Amino acid sequence: MRFIFEIDKQLAPIAIVEQKLSDNNHLDDFNCDSIAFLSSDKTKDLKNPELISSIIWKSFAITQKFCLDNCKVDLIVFNNNECNRLKLSDDEKASVIIHELGHVFNRNPQIDKIPNLHDCLDKGLNYNDAKQKTKEEKDNDELYADSYVVKNGLKNELESCINKSLDDDAYSKMKETLKMRLNFIRNNNINLIGERKK
Ligand SMILES: [Zn+2]
Repeated sequence: MRFIFEIDKQLAPIAIVEQKLSDNNHLDDFNCDSIAFLSSDKTKDLKNPELISSIIWKSFAITQKFCLDNCKVDLIVFNNNECNRLKLSDDEKASVIIHELGHVFNRNPQIDKIPNLHDCLDKGLNYNDAKQKTKEEKDNDELYADSYVVKNGLKNELESCINKSLDDDAYSKMKETLKMRLNFIRNNNINLIGERKK
C-alpha cells in the first residue's frame, strides 16, 4: 500500500484551517506527521484504492485509520466535488476539514471500546445491544468532532454545512444524525473534550 501525502497549501480552505488552528494554538496538531490529506479524485492513483471507503463519494470528507510501516496514519480524504455540488464556501470547506481533524484530535474516548462480534462471542454479550451501542458511540463521535470545530471558531460555517446536507436528497438517510448534530451545536451544549492523541 502506498499513500500519497498531499497537503495542498494553495487550497484556500487549507489556509483557513491553518489560520483557525494557529489562532487557537493548535498548529502543532495540524503539523502532526501521522496525518495525510488526499483529494478524493487522487484515490484512484493508490495501489489499493478499494481500501478507501466508498462512503467518500457521498460525503464531504472522511477519515480512515491505517497502519503503515508500524505507524498509525490518519488519512483524511477530502471530496471537493461534493463540497462544490452543495455550494460550500471556502470557510465551510475549512469547517469540514477541521471536523475531520476533530476525529483525530478530539475522538470520543468510548469509540475504541465498542465490542465487535468477536468480543460478544468471547464475553457472552448480546450482539444486537452491541450494535445499538456502536451507533450511539458513532453518533457521539460526530459530536466530539463538531465540538472541535466550534472550539476553533467555525460554528456558523459548520451549521450551514449541515443545513445544506439536510436540504439535499442524497443525505436523506442521515437526516436523524444530522438533525441531532444541529440541535447539539445550536443549543451550545458542545463542550466535549476527548482524549488527546500525540
Ligand atoms: Zn464526522
